[in-house]
Amino acid sequence: MIDIRGLTKEELGEALAIYGQKPYRAGQVFTWLHKRYVSSFDDMTDISKDLRNRLKEDYYIYRLREADVQTSHKDGTKKFLFELQDGNLIESVFMKYRSWNTVCISSQVGCDMGCRFCASTVGGCVRGMTAGEMLDEVYTIEEKTKERVSGVVVMGSGEPLLVYDELIRFIKIITDESGKNISARNITVSTCGLVPQIKRLAEERLQINLAISLHAPDDEKRKKIMPVAKKYPLDELIDACRYYFEKTGRRVTFEYSLISGINDGKEDAAKLSRLIKGLNCHVNLIPVNPVRENGFKPPDRRFAQAFKNALENFGINVTIRRELGGDIDGACGQLRRKHV
Ligand code: SF4
Repeated sequence: MIDIRGLTKEELGEALAIYGQKPYRAGQVFTWLHKRYVSSFDDMTDISKDLRNRLKEDYYIYRLREADVQTSHKDGTKKFLFELQDGNLIESVFMKYRSWNTVCISSQVGCDMGCRFCASTVGGCVRGMTAGEMLDEVYTIEEKTKERVSGVVVMGSGEPLLVYDELIRFIKIITDESGKNISARNITVSTCGLVPQIKRLAEERLQINLAISLHAPDDEKRKKIMPVAKKYPLDELIDACRYYFEKTGRRVTFEYSLISGINDGKEDAAKLSRLIKGLNCHVNLIPVNPVRENGFKPPDRRFAQAFKNALENFGINVTIRRELGGDIDGACGQLRRKHV
């Protein structure tokens, strides 16, 4: 049995052709699945009973179960704990901005990448998620909140480029105009810096945003907080970002968690500026969010502002990110496989 929600419209067309169905049927079924979010083939009222029964024999419709939800009293951010079909738990976050809503989704159950500032990696990685599971994070949140979601950031638990094929499938399906139809420009994929996969993603020429978890201005410091730096040094990573821009025309975002006394000094700002100078990019500064296991602390507000000013003086585009959901451990680097 296959989760039918993980099929692109083209694949659905091929699958239905085996049953002797005309191509337009794929659009109809796709819309039931990805626009109306049906949970049962029987809800597809304009599809013949015969076809619905055939579909039931070969496919299932996968739905997440909401195990818990926490709402931020500060900003209305909601953190959902979802149970997957095999009992594993993941977290996803609904964030409300002034004029749009965004969902931050997980792509793996846990994570193996070992970034020291991140709670998602504490228990390692159990498994990668499927496109159907990732889609249902968005769909279920839209249903539960009764709010329209117009942006997705793949920035929750997991390294999305390690589930590359499922990620591409997820993007193709969620941007399809017969379904949820989210603009590719409103989708951000965040990676800790897997160079070969970044180049491969560039070749897809999707109009999505690429965010790089950078967090340090040189290899020496980066290796101390991000084990991936031992495999892919910064010069290779920055070259891959340049390649991404050349192929897609999309500006790259660098995520930089400011950790007091570790990477927030004047010299760090100067090194960072030299590293990314000339690259069409944007830097998001994130005062690090507390995670019990690592003891990292965010810098004082004045230091964060001074770091930002220093980058601006070098001509770098930079913002200090407004963090949502900090009071429910729903901010960057705080997601886990359970609520604690
Ligand atoms: S920051 Fe991302 S890649 Fe690093 S451990 Fe956390 S989830 Fe994994």
